[in-house]
Amino acid sequence: MVDYQQIISKVYHDVLRQENKGKVPDYIPELACIEEGKFGIAMTTLNNFSVEIGDSAERFSIQSISKVFALAFVYEKLEEKLWRRVDVEPSGNAFNSLVQIEADNGIPRNPFINAGAIVICDILLEICVDPKSEMLTFIRGLAEDDQILVNETVAKSERQNSFRNSALCNYMKSFGNIRNNPDDVIDLYCTLCAIEMNCNQLSKSLLFLANEGKNPLNHQQILSSSKAKRINAILLTCGFYDESGEFSFRVGLPGKSGVGGGIVALYPQHYCITVWSPKLNSKGNSYRGMKFLEAFTTQTGESIF
Ligand code: GLN
Repeated sequence: MVDYQQIISKVYHDVLRQENKGKVPDYIPELACIEEGKFGIAMTTLNNFSVEIGDSAERFSIQSISKVFALAFVYEKLEEKLWRRVDVEPSGNAFNSLVQIEADNGIPRNPFINAGAIVICDILLEICVDPKSEMLTFIRGLAEDDQILVNETVAKSERQNSFRNSALCNYMKSFGNIRNNPDDVIDLYCTLCAIEMNCNQLSKSLLFLANEGKNPLNHQQILSSSKAKRINAILLTCGFYDESGEFSFRVGLPGKSGVGGGIVALYPQHYCITVWSPKLNSKGNSYRGMKFLEAFTTQTGESIF
């Protein structure tokens, strides 16, 4: 049996001793205020064993990790029709890139780049009466915590600076792939990015993806096993934008990052693990998060490969 507790503690202290490279993002001014040295980890296994260390209980901005919740919610409702509006190919480009949208006729490469998540938000506006509260209810249910909230200051800060995302949204509208008012779509997108959760809550709430779509803690079927498998495939190939190949190579697990410094990774049939450290590498992924997970899967000897 792998001693997760011992390995997490050892790797955490090893990474803590090394230089903390990278920088916190400043294009969302409110995120630049975060303390750079924060570092937390939480893992939950399917049989409800959990390990936490460092700042694992402190809430942070989940940012693009919210794209996983939004995709799961919409995929369950739209079934395979969803893929008419967003593709499942890695983009090989930055998360906020505009370059492929013209050549691809307004169809984003995948749901985990900004363009793809913006289309998912447009769909949420079409299928929900109150998408913000329905998404919050969905996420609160998964994390079993009614106190999960949107940080309105962060949401506002991003809305006031969402020039690229607005450009993407308007451009896709010109191709007919956005049905609502672009301002409403960007408002919802920024709201979901500004949800705050801690490492423990994130690991718990995405455990269903490691368990064939079923939340192992309350036995609720969130998605069919086929859909969970497909989301994991997209996480593996697209979860880290133009660093997805590198994450797969170094860590060997499906996962998703956010510019708030969080990374969630999951080992199907076993566990979900979340690392939070705000300094990002040049691709917008947590520097220490990547370091930790690489060493962790190396020392456990476990990966999907
Ligand atoms: N809210 C961020 C943005 O749109 C999310 C990006 C991310 O976490 N990679 O730029």
